[in-house]
Amino acid sequence: MKTNNRQARFEFWNYIIEGFINESNVSVDTKVTEICRKVKQFLSLEYAAVYLYDPWKNSYFLHTDSEKDEEVLLSELAEEAVNMNNTPFDNRKIFSGKPVLKEQTFLDSLLISLEEDEVIVGYFFAATVNSEHMETNILEFQEVAGEISSVINSMNVHARMAQNANRFEVLYRVTAKFHSSINTNHVLGEVINTLKGVYPRFEYFLFLSQDFPSNGELPIKELIYNDNVTNKVSVHAFLTGEVQIEEDHEVSETCLYAPLKGTQGVYGVLQIISPAAVVFPKEEVEFITSLANAAGNALENTRLYQQSKQLIEDLQLINETSHTLNSNLRLIETTSFMNRQIKDKFGAQEIGFILYKEDEEEEYEILDGSTDYFLLKGSNKFLPTILDLLQKQHDSVFIGDFSIKYPNIPLPFHSVMAIPMVQSKQIKGAIIALHKQPYYFSFESFKLIQSLVHHSTLAFVNSMLREKLEHLVITDYLTSLYSRKYLDEQLQEHLKSDEQGSFLLIDIDDFKKFNDTYGHEVGDELIIQVANIMKGHLGKEDFAARWGGEELAVYLPNASMEDGLETAHQLVRQVEAFTEPTVTISVGVSSWEKNHKDLARSIFDRADEALYEAKKLGKNCVAKAKHTAE
Ligand code: GH3
Ligand code: MG
Ligand code: MG
Repeated sequence: MKTNNRQARFEFWNYIIEGFINESNVSVDTKVTEICRKVKQFLSLEYAAVYLYDPWKNSYFLHTDSEKDEEVLLSELAEEAVNMNNTPFDNRKIFSGKPVLKEQTFLDSLLISLEEDEVIVGYFFAATVNSEHMETNILEFQEVAGEISSVINSMNVHARMAQNANRFEVLYRVTAKFHSSINTNHVLGEVINTLKGVYPRFEYFLFLSQDFPSNGELPIKELIYNDNVTNKVSVHAFLTGEVQIEEDHEVSETCLYAPLKGTQGVYGVLQIISPAAVVFPKEEVEFITSLANAAGNALENTRLYQQSKQLIEDLQLINETSHTLNSNLRLIETTSFMNRQIKDKFGAQEIGFILYKEDEEEEYEILDGSTDYFLLKGSNKFLPTILDLLQKQHDSVFIGDFSIKYPNIPLPFHSVMAIPMVQSKQIKGAIIALHKQPYYFSFESFKLIQSLVHHSTLAFVNSMLREKLEHLVITDYLTSLYSRKYLDEQLQEHLKSDEQGSFLLIDIDDFKKFNDTYGHEVGDELIIQVANIMKGHLGKEDFAARWGGEELAVYLPNASMEDGLETAHQLVRQVEAFTEPTVTISVGVSSWEKNHKDLARSIFDRADEALYEAKKLGKNCVAKAKHTAE
């Protein structure tokens, strides 16, 4: 063997290296087994084995060309050799001894470490019955071990390069797919499929927040912040944005948690479960991290895309709303339109439009167009609390669960959004949206409704002012009875369509004297008292008006002379009974019927004449008009 030593070695290694080192479809085990076979021949050994480090298992595995039972034997022997010598990693890195195993004594055996950049990657184990042979050729053995190291090194380098190239290709392919997708389910499905292709033995789950729009096909677990150990590690990965590894010794499982991280945040956590305890090698963790980051970035992009799409939709809604509201709607049309928009867009179950009243007894009014709950009597006990909050904060109110915040105020709705309508820094009113379910409205909805109300307040205030103005024209400012003009118009209309009607002209008795006694202001107040008595007494269809000064008038549609007289008598009695200080009135009553052609003017004049009669009769009484029109 010493003769032609170099030549033989050269040929031998050449054979091995050229034969299969770069052969990528031959497994590492086959290659190493082949090395063992060659080495056994070359060094004339009984047994030759290579004990290689497996980073996934964090332990050594035996490769040999020997038979199966011998393999077991050798494996135990090699292990024993490592164990027997406590210093297999010492400077010599050679173990030499005579291990006895199952009554079989090897005269000599050797364990030589195989190294790569001074890191032990395995051991070469040689056993022979010819001890002389081993002793004389010890240098040769060491040299062979050195050669095995370099072959294994180049094999590893090659495998690593091939693997890296493969991983890069996978990453490149996946990332390219991500960029062409705006579907988060698709992106996450791709991550899992890719990983299943690379590591088929593992199980995969995704920890995602509750609001993730899942299509039901992904293995999603909800990211919950509770004390459960497993969840804790996933939450830790989510919060720190760093890969976490957890070993469960009880069920002998290893879990890896990789955060799905984009540039702006973490969007979830990928859980990889290995059914056996493994050590995730550094390179694999790096690969998984790269994939998880690519997914995180893709999720971020789709989220940003969804957000901008949402933003455009929101702007369209605001634009459409402002546009519609600015087309001079009546107040009821404005509230109905807003009601519809808020119902459609935010899913609110009840919507209230609240308007503060200026210089009136009641603080606020619930506008028509609000939903039933708001118009229901006694259902608005919660309103003062909400309106109070709005005034105090001078800002919108967003309550996830009203019953928790205000346990003593009954409200069958848990979710509450209240947005003030602010005009010239003054709160003019508020729009309130309710839902039975707690935490129903999202924060995005809240922001959007704020914006919507903000953009529609001007239109609201304008419709309100317009209607107020219209109201002013048809009503008297002091008594808020109708104006004479309006009653005149109404009578004209009724003359065209009705069968009959009755008109009452009322004058307060001795009012000049009253004014002189109590002053003009008390006089005004008294006119209001009389007006209120009239409002309280009359039906919904009847019209009461301020005719001028201390003269008032009533038109009773479809009433006969008898009806008119009866109403007049009642009014006379009530005014005397309920005014303070007491005044009385005199009333002249006229009436009309369809078959007599009649004019509004004539009906008024006849009532005026009757009133004069009543005064002549001594006041505080009723007089009937003498004539009806021919
Ligand atoms: P008679 O019963 O005969 O009608 O006596 P009178 O004093 O009511 O008679 P007249 O019509 O002469 O006087 C009406 C008085 O009512 C004159 C005016 O001072 C008073 N008056 C009219 N309009 C108002 C008003 O808006 N406020 C107050 N305080 N007084 C008014
Ligand atoms: Mg008068
Ligand atoms: Mg008078």
